[in-house]
Amino acid sequence: MATTKQKGNISVQTENIFPIIKKFLYSDHEIFLRELISNATDATSKLKTLSSKGEFDGDLGELTIDIILDKEAKTLTVRDRGIGMTEAEVKKYLNQVAFSSAEDFVKKYKDDANIIGHFGLGFYSAFMVADHVEVNTRSYKKSGKAQKWQCDGNPSFTLEPTKKSTRGTDVVLHISKDSEEFLEEARIQTLLDKYCKFLPIEIRFGTKTETTYEGEGEERKPVETQVDNIINNPNPAWKKKANKLKEEDYKAFYNELYPYSTPPLFWIHLDIDFPFNLTGILYFPKVTNAVEVQKNKIQLYSNQVYVTDDVSNIVPEFLTLLHGVIDSPDIPLNVSRSYLQSDANVKKITSYITKKVAEKLAKLFKKDREAYESKWQEIGVFVKYGMISEEKFHDKGIKFGLLKNLDGDHFTIEEYKEKVKALQTDKHDKIVLLYTNNKDQHHSYIASAKAKSYDVLEFDNVIDNHFMQHLESKGLDVTFVRVDSDTANNLVQKDESNESVLSEKDQEKVKNLFTDSLGDLKGGTIELKALSPEDHPVQITKPEFMRRMKEMQQMQGMNMGQMPDMHNVVINSNHPLIAEKLVRMKGEKKSAFAKYLHQLALLNQNMLKGEELAEFVKKSIDFMK
Ligand code: ADP
Repeated sequence: MATTKQKGNISVQTENIFPIIKKFLYSDHEIFLRELISNATDATSKLKTLSSKGEFDGDLGELTIDIILDKEAKTLTVRDRGIGMTEAEVKKYLNQVAFSSAEDFVKKYKDDANIIGHFGLGFYSAFMVADHVEVNTRSYKKSGKAQKWQCDGNPSFTLEPTKKSTRGTDVVLHISKDSEEFLEEARIQTLLDKYCKFLPIEIRFGTKTETTYEGEGEERKPVETQVDNIINNPNPAWKKKANKLKEEDYKAFYNELYPYSTPPLFWIHLDIDFPFNLTGILYFPKVTNAVEVQKNKIQLYSNQVYVTDDVSNIVPEFLTLLHGVIDSPDIPLNVSRSYLQSDANVKKITSYITKKVAEKLAKLFKKDREAYESKWQEIGVFVKYGMISEEKFHDKGIKFGLLKNLDGDHFTIEEYKEKVKALQTDKHDKIVLLYTNNKDQHHSYIASAKAKSYDVLEFDNVIDNHFMQHLESKGLDVTFVRVDSDTANNLVQKDESNESVLSEKDQEKVKNLFTDSLGDLKGGTIELKALSPEDHPVQITKPEFMRRMKEMQQMQGMNMGQMPDMHNVVINSNHPLIAEKLVRMKGEKKSAFAKYLHQLALLNQNMLKGEELAEFVKKSIDFMK
């Protein structure tokens, strides 16, 4: 056993590894703190384990890890009261193991700085911010002396016995000139909040002022006391068993993750240990708009150590709308991102999470349909998105994905088909599902659909266009038609036998009159229909297909300057204004009247704009005179 100072070279082939570490990990310097603290956490957890097994019979005492900032000395110290290291262990772990894996890392993965720490590079990341690192350590084992290891950023180190009476390890970083930001208290506090919030051992960063109040009424005054600044919650909710948690606990944890946000709708507690290990809580946020949904991201942890909030490769895309935490030591973090997608474990995890979410929704729907329906406005986004993007989720979602009609009633797709099929089946035997995305604008179309006892669905979300298309493509024998569309009127009602009160010749005349009077319809058609005298004299309909194409393209941010805003004109030959008034008119008046009725119909669709609108208003005023 050495009693004097030893010198040596860290066994490494690469002459000077530190510049390489610094260079390749440049973008991620701040993670050194997470690495050192998680080493300290490991060392402490190991001691607890040894103690619980009876292999350590000493007094555990306080186990809190301290982060100590000394601005004057320009040092940052991570102090733990864990197992510590003997002389042999320092040589083995700091000089050989840690170093050789650092070397491996640089060789293999110099392009992906995200993976530091999952490669045993943890300890050496200290050299990204420090030009001199000191480790003072004393093992829990009774034999052996405390050791002081020092290294100043090149492969040579010194190791000597030192005076340290307490168990555990102090890692002292002498912060380098270009990293002085890490001597700022606020910066360190931010890093601790980001990376260490749920580490399993209590972490203290100095003290903080706490204000309490003493006395009553006039006498009442604030009392400031200094208390430990504990930055983490060592027992986060996701590590507990679901049956030990109440609704308030889940909500409180959500608030801990995302302070000041709206409480979530409901949540799913994930807990599995075979064939992989995964715990977590996923929350369904209460959404008011789509932008907000992305704000609070799912956080990924590995044994309570924060890894990232970019879980796009682990969670199916539609579920990235959820919030919460996933913790899995089985997600291989020591590999590149593209590899992650093809990893078998990750695939299993992805399908497990999808399955769990589907099960939860199915259960909520079954158990308390009323409550489920009341949340549909919000859940709907996930369910629709999920059904569109994941085959497996579609198969489950078909049972709890809902359609809502204008009366505010909710139906599963099968229930709704059953409800409307008698009246709303078209000549191709497809069930026509009428919908509106704007109740006000489609008011008169809705009224006439209702007059025919048709039912109208309400779709008002950006995702609905895709959702309709998706359902149509799934062999469900349904077709969606907006209530103002050309085909909405073409529903073959089995008992419809309206005959025109006009003769064929008069009908022809009316049609020609409109064709001549209305000018360019940009490809739209003019058609006479024997509707009810109660229906409007002239109606505007839009080709369903064209309109949807346009909407889709707009959504994808394409400029559809080329696509005409086409509309069709339906003339109700049974309306008295047509059947009695128009046919008897003479000369110019007749054409002006047809034009006026057309403009009235456009107005009803909010399609009358600019010059035409002004002209229409003027005409109406003249008429009133
Ligand atoms: P990893 O933690 O991934 O094994 P590191 O380079 O961070 O790699 O550390 C190498 C080894 O050094 C650890 O496995 C551990 O045995 C030892 N070590 C590091 N920090 C401490 C500490 N604070 N207390 C006790 N042992 C430590």
